[in-house]
Amino acid sequence: MTAEGEADILLNLQLEDETSQVLLKKVLYVPEMGSSGLVSVRCIQAAGGVVSFAENTVSITHEGKLHGMARLQHNAYILQTIDLIVVNATENVVAQRARVEEKHGTLLDWHRCLGHISFHRVKQLADHHSQMIIDGSRTNPTCVSCIAAKQTRTPNSSPSTRRTTVPLQLIHTDLAGPMKTTSLGGARYYLLFIDDYSRYTIIYILR
Ligand SMILES: [Zn+2]
Repeated sequence: MTAEGEADILLNLQLEDETSQVLLKKVLYVPEMGSSGLVSVRCIQAAGGVVSFAENTVSITHEGKLHGMARLQHNAYILQTIDLIVVNATENVVAQRARVEEKHGTLLDWHRCLGHISFHRVKQLADHHSQMIIDGSRTNPTCVSCIAAKQTRTPNSSPSTRRTTVPLQLIHTDLAGPMKTTSLGGARYYLLFIDDYSRYTIIYILR
């Protein structure tokens, strides 16, 4: 993310039943963050403020006097603000300060990092995010994992091609058993005959 400006912000804060004014100095304007802003606890402490966390609330005091309150909402402490006034705004002076480190990788590295998305998408993303650097060639490499994942296997044999032209030309037979469970009639084996041409099947139950 890149800061596009810096300003001092005068905040009107809501306390229990009164209001308070606090001047935040050197606030960075980062358009990518949208309408929400972040206040650094460390910066408040550095300016002599005291930040205390209690159950669902945060209070900001300075020299024993309450100046601001934040309440827990959806995992974030939201500063109870009424409005704000921008003072001393300057544009583009601190653009470097909030710049996020660049990340490097080959096209194949990025493809793997991003869950094997298409190389075209990787390039599109890199074109839109200045911190995402593609090292080396932009020619689509070969991803062995992608090839393996998309490959289909040919079946071992083609679905039954009939080799016979008349009944009884070829008979398939199988004797199976002994079975673990004996039939009610006491049999533990069966003998099977299948005529290849007509698929006529006879089964003999054997003891
Ligand atoms: Zn892949």
